Amino acid sequence: MTSPHPVAPPTAEPHGPANAALEVLSTVFGYDSFRGDQAAIIEQIASGGDAVVLMPTGGGKSLCYQIPALLRQGTGVVVSPLIALMSDQVAALEAVGIRAAFLNSTLERHEAQAVEQQLLAGEIDLLYMAPERLVLPRTIDLLHRAELSLFAIDEAHCVSQWGHDFRPDYMGLSVLADAFPTVPRVALTATATEATHQELTERLRMEEAKHFVSSFDRPNIQYRIEPKATPREQLLRLISAEHEGESGIVYCLSRKSVETTAKWLSDRGIPALPYHAGLDARVRQDHQERFLRADGLIIVATIAFGMGIDKPDVRFVAHLDLPKSIEGYYQETGRAGRDGQPATAWMAYGLGDVVSQRKFIDSGEGNEQFKRNARSHLEAMLALCETVSCRRVQLLRYFGQDMGSTACGNCDICLNPPQTWDATVAAQKVLSALIRLDRERGQKFGSGQIIEVLLGRENDRSRQSRHEELSVWGIGSDLSEKEWRSALRQLLARGIVDAEGDYGVLVPGAQAGPVLRSEAAVELAVDRTPAKPSRSRSVRGGGASRAADGLEIAERERFEALREWRTSVATEKQIPPYMVFSDATLVAIVQTRPASVGALSGVSGVGAKKLAEYGEGVLAALGGSAA
Ligand code: ADP
Ligand code: ZN
Repeated sequence: MTSPHPVAPPTAEPHGPANAALEVLSTVFGYDSFRGDQAAIIEQIASGGDAVVLMPTGGGKSLCYQIPALLRQGTGVVVSPLIALMSDQVAALEAVGIRAAFLNSTLERHEAQAVEQQLLAGEIDLLYMAPERLVLPRTIDLLHRAELSLFAIDEAHCVSQWGHDFRPDYMGLSVLADAFPTVPRVALTATATEATHQELTERLRMEEAKHFVSSFDRPNIQYRIEPKATPREQLLRLISAEHEGESGIVYCLSRKSVETTAKWLSDRGIPALPYHAGLDARVRQDHQERFLRADGLIIVATIAFGMGIDKPDVRFVAHLDLPKSIEGYYQETGRAGRDGQPATAWMAYGLGDVVSQRKFIDSGEGNEQFKRNARSHLEAMLALCETVSCRRVQLLRYFGQDMGSTACGNCDICLNPPQTWDATVAAQKVLSALIRLDRERGQKFGSGQIIEVLLGRENDRSRQSRHEELSVWGIGSDLSEKEWRSALRQLLARGIVDAEGDYGVLVPGAQAGPVLRSEAAVELAVDRTPAKPSRSRSVRGGGASRAADGLEIAERERFEALREWRTSVATEKQIPPYMVFSDATLVAIVQTRPASVGALSGVSGVGAKKLAEYGEGVLAALGGSAA
């Protein structure tokens, strides 16, 4: 039943396959227990059944097919959309002693032939392939001549035509059901919506599969959204106060702001590289590789960056612009902290974001239905931004998972609850100003000029149009300009004010009526000053690493010593540092304080192969730092 295997011969099986799985988990991967549904999924596939797995990023999907592939006879074929990442995926498996390979167009003819020979000789545990190659008759024929343990279809949501990552090549994968009826198949994705789930089940012909839907919560990610004032400065503060020397992703909407932000950070001594679809493919690939390999590099990117990026130690994801939907936001922020260590999802958003996105939707291509969709995505995103209750509760509710009313304790709202104020009169003043300007002057303005009128501040435009004669001139002088900006942003998010036309001029929104008639009260959040530190931050020194949260000062020094050792090993072997050991494992080593190689073997993430390879080096690095 068990395949002959160089590192992990799951020797005796006193209590059945579940025990064999645990043994592989511990000897090969160095972990001592399964997470969530992992054990059940592995059992389902190992015993020959199909499975559909919905699990958030970082949930541990890979083990769900890697372990069954080791337990079953033959080779597991992994379908993965991104050729560029295959060699890293294979290297990560080889690092723990698994016999892995890939077949794709980057291989020379003779290299591909060698892999095919190994496959036929039963010498490969896991074989990676892109869908377009898999469905070629030649490949199907090759696979028929090999012994197969399973098919794992990674990023299975790519088969969904209505999803955000549709790849036509995934459609062809439906042939596997008929071509290999006896080989178990497992489809995996981190996309949570029920619509995608149903669609992929149908298109991949997984009628007989067992379905495993995990909680989509990512408890180690701290969600924070703050008003945009000077976004780059705010970002810089986040990095230098909480994430110095750590890896992160910064998302911007436009290519231009990607370029300028990357340069701006570099100029300030923070290593950052741009990534967007306008860059030459070679440059893009190079930047991606450097990001994966370096410890502590920041990538500034448009949403073109990220799918399939398995880097587990991304410590923060920052958004400098408002994402278009909660789905997008959750996918992007989900790339932080895959290793389960503390990570930050931070976003700065402002009035301008709301106005420009509304404008973008209205003036964009697409029919009414499409625009309505886009608008409702944006509304949901805005509601998340302007909420005065726990962000995680809202996020999960959006994905149909109810945490009840339990606040999470790890978002900015929970850590630092906003105060609210009765803004009914302020909202009426804004609406009156919009109405008077329109009726009496035939004018509509963006937020800047509206605030000038509310404050009664003269400028060329107001002089020309004699705004000071209007009854609304200066009626808002009780609030500051900053407070008005905050109020306008929140009124926009709630549809009390709307933005229209090419210039995003403000008009009364759909919800304005009841407010004007004093039938609805408006409660707004007091503006939060951008630099306000979160409570968790105050316990850390500047420049401390989030991964090392919870470590004592002396332990942090040992952690840093281990990171240095890891960088030198990774550089020498030309692999990313996380393939040596993850941050989580480094933290566990520091806390265990192993005095011998034997003691090290009990640490989570230290499997047999890595123990033999790195044990002495780790002890030496720890010894050196203790002095
Ligand atoms: P996903 O593909 O779902 O995003 P991965 O398979 O990359 O997640 O796993 C995320 C991280 O969690 C990896 O570093 C992995 O080694 C680790 N991991 C997975 N399962 C376990 C486990 N049972 N115990 C400890 N760590 C685990
Ligand atoms: Zn919360």
